[in-house]
Amino acid sequence: MAASGRILARCLQLLRSKARAGVSTGDLDRAAERFIRSQGAEPAFKGYNGFPGSICASPNSMIVHGIPGDYALERGDVLSIDVGVELDGWVADAAVTVAIGRVSSVARRLLDTTEASLFEAVEQCRPGQHLGDVSHAVQRRVESDGMAVVRSLVGHGIGRSMHEDPQIPNFGRPGTGPELTEGMVLAIEPMVTAGGHEIRMASDGWSVYSLDGSLAAHFEHTVAVTADGGRILTPWHLDEDARNRTGARVETV
Ligand code: MG
Repeated sequence: MAASGRILARCLQLLRSKARAGVSTGDLDRAAERFIRSQGAEPAFKGYNGFPGSICASPNSMIVHGIPGDYALERGDVLSIDVGVELDGWVADAAVTVAIGRVSSVARRLLDTTEASLFEAVEQCRPGQHLGDVSHAVQRRVESDGMAVVRSLVGHGIGRSMHEDPQIPNFGRPGTGPELTEGMVLAIEPMVTAGGHEIRMASDGWSVYSLDGSLAAHFEHTVAVTADGGRILTPWHLDEDARNRTGARVETV
């Protein structure tokens, strides 16, 4: 899964560098598929329950599951990009939300809060902690920053299949739920809006929007529970230059 996750992280870094005004979400989808296949891996989303893309591309008030297509990014947009990669039968899943050019201060805060809530959740991924500790870490950070966690969409276990037990809500009480044990792998994915937590489904049967039209963000890592704590298997957050300078092992944090 770490090998699969490394390909995914590089794919997200590539998409991040390509996501700018004038580029369509379909362009990003084609770039992602080309890259993933060039690495000998497969785009895990393509064909999943009939999904047509290799990535989900969800702009602005769309939270998740956007079908890539003709939509051309504009300056001031935020775009959530979610990618799945399968290599040798093992799946990794990760997402980032990117700012297209200069964005509003609300959008900036939304991105910062959502990303921070993911890393606070990863810190809870230690043997002996409970799933509720992971969920609560997201909720605490998001709500203390005055934003809302989407309640009807959840993270998930991951491994041979993209979606395995347990479900991982982005809200919960500390000390509740299943105990985390070494070797579990979790796809933790805060989905956050700058407004309310309610959602609506679009008529395409895929795209999920905030009900009130508020901006949304989505950050995700695939994380293994190890004796040393959470090990991020999809290290899209590690900066390429730092990695080149230090030769750091990319799959660890
Ligand atoms: Mg996921």
